[in-house]
Amino acid sequence: MSRRTEVLAEMGIAPVWRLRRKEVAEEKHAPSSPPSTEWIPLKTAVSGCTKCGLHKTRTQTVFGVGDESADWMLIGEAPGAEEDRLGDPFVGQAGKLLDSMLAAIGLSRRENVYIANVLKCRPPGNRNPAPEEVEQCSPHLLKQIELIKPKLIVAMGRFAAQTLLDSGASIASMRGRVHRYAGVPLIVTYHPAYLLRTLEDKAKAWEDLVFARKTMRAL
Ligand code: URA
Repeated sequence: MSRRTEVLAEMGIAPVWRLRRKEVAEEKHAPSSPPSTEWIPLKTAVSGCTKCGLHKTRTQTVFGVGDESADWMLIGEAPGAEEDRLGDPFVGQAGKLLDSMLAAIGLSRRENVYIANVLKCRPPGNRNPAPEEVEQCSPHLLKQIELIKPKLIVAMGRFAAQTLLDSGASIASMRGRVHRYAGVPLIVTYHPAYLLRTLEDKAKAWEDLVFARKTMRAL
């Protein structure tokens, strides 16, 4: 079984079509990081942040991971236990699924992709982020977006989608369209942790990624 077939099988999706090597190569991106000086004040502000009560229970802040000049930016909700322990987003079970999904469309968190969360600290017991936590923490995310200048944002789950689109709408109603955040095309999909619990929606998430890929190609 090829790696791609394995990935799709892992996602519970039968392979329908296959990317040609040339198409994947064309989307490769030559990373050129912005001067790190632009990032230092933000990284310092996040690591020392005490704006909400989550600083009292965190092991460490979880800033983000990936190419700081990526075309793709994926945004989740908040760190879980593994992320809090290791300091990187999406390193637990949901992260493994996310990596498989990215691999299925020829992407990797190491290249041309940046992954961050709305919250930089873990809500205890993996509860949902509280509105005041989102309000205090989301400026860090907005600054990350400003520095990365992605060509496309994929908002995974309702906290990312609702925060960036300033909307109370459901994921189901926001999927399948190109939204905009500060002029940047934004596509909404399910959160990988939700997909681990709701296998029947994995195929919809696959459709969303294919749609995101098509949107990126047309930019
Ligand atoms: N869920 C998220 O939203 N973010 C992570 O980093 C891990 C799990």
